[in-house]
Amino acid sequence: MDFDLGAGAAELRTRLRTLIEQHFDPGFLGAFTDDPADLEATQAFCRLLAGEGLLTLAWPTEYGGGGGSLWDQTVVREEMWAHHEPRGAQYMGLNWVGPAIMAHGTAEQKALHLPPIAAGEVIWCQGFSEPEAGSDLAALRTRAEPVGDPARPDGWRVTGQKIWTSYAGMAQWCIIAARVGAGERHEGITMFLVPMDAPGIEVRPIRSMLGPHHLNEVFFDEVPAGPDAVLGAVGGGWSVIRTALAHERVGIARYARCERLLSEMGRVLAPHWDELPPSLEVAWARALVQVRVARLLAYRTVRAQENGEVPDVAASSARIAVTQCDQAVAEVLFSAAEHRSLEAGPDAPVHGALEDHWRYAQAATVSSGTIEVQRIIVAKSLVKGASA
Ligand SMILES: Cc1cc2nc3c(=O)[nH]c(=O)nc-3n(C[C@H](O)[C@H](O)[C@H](O)COP(=O)(O)OP(=O)(O)OC[C@H]3O[C@@H](n4cnc5c(N)ncnc54)[C@H](O)[C@@H]3O)c2cc1C
Repeated sequence: MDFDLGAGAAELRTRLRTLIEQHFDPGFLGAFTDDPADLEATQAFCRLLAGEGLLTLAWPTEYGGGGGSLWDQTVVREEMWAHHEPRGAQYMGLNWVGPAIMAHGTAEQKALHLPPIAAGEVIWCQGFSEPEAGSDLAALRTRAEPVGDPARPDGWRVTGQKIWTSYAGMAQWCIIAARVGAGERHEGITMFLVPMDAPGIEVRPIRSMLGPHHLNEVFFDEVPAGPDAVLGAVGGGWSVIRTALAHERVGIARYARCERLLSEMGRVLAPHWDELPPSLEVAWARALVQVRVARLLAYRTVRAQENGEVPDVAASSARIAVTQCDQAVAEVLFSAAEHRSLEAGPDAPVHGALEDHWRYAQAATVSSGTIEVQRIIVAKSLVKGASA
């Protein structure tokens, strides 16, 4: 399979790798470590990428983008994920909050929100999941009550609870899904863009195996939102969610990190293959095939996006493959490095990245919708296609 995206893409990769090398030491494991300097470094790097015109390369120039193609953006996200996401928490705004605002926002919302994202100045979080509404997102119960005349509200008061909200403790803005009016399930859902310093918002961190300041509960107690905070139509939130999720599911290019880690481990192990069980070499090769399959399916989704589709089924297929290769690679690398991989630091294999990768790989089949839910989406579309 030829994954070559052309000379321009190769040049872009080299440019990005040089910038990463210049600004991060080889042991950098991402923004979410016990060292707050890591988060600061990612914030500074986003501003630097913005200055170089690389942060929102595929966005239209009118919104602060570089006017590049979705394939340019694919190269950027691959290089970022391969190198432990030096955009840190901002990748969420860049990958899917921005595109959702671009697709569904008013001219004022675009003017307000897109330039700061493109300048690398803002962290967004995503308030979709609730304690009783994860896989079944349409069961969400957070409510937005109109202020004044319900037919022409002067604003809204949002009340409810979100959970597993990544980066809520550091975000300036949140895109939240809330229920409006008497509509049920998908019909009643409305999206709001809310500043995280609005009165009535409380963030409580959830300690987890993923590390510090990553996952949170967020409580909304009559949080005020103006009429201009509604993204898309009142009651039309489901189509915004579909846009956001399709971008999200293909935006997390962990297959690129998998390939990099596999190849680095291959290099470290090269002199020792003869001493290792042959089954390990087979597992290593199999994992590499899974990585390439994931990449292929991701590219299929990008192609559909290029054609103006909202490719939720293709994105689900890609997501299934990415999460599976994530876990397969985690296991192979762990077997290869044995318990030494639990160490971190310059002397550990790949600087302790294996342990970090293994931890995040466990959550991969849950975040962005579980693997079972992705399979249901794909299966339903196949059944529908067969009966059409
Ligand atoms: C690292 C991480 C980051 C996250 N970040 C965010 C975020 O920023 N914002 C946000 O809104 N959410 C976030 N989430 C939440 C994530 O989207 C949900 O955890 C996920 O959608 C699953 O929901 P749940 O946890 O309620 O599990 P449940 O929906 O309760 O599922 C429990 C189990 O039952 C299975 N199951 C449920 N329904 C079915 C069915 N119909 N058929 C078959 N099996 C089923 C599921 O597959 C799963 O195995 C994050 C999660 C993780 C792990």
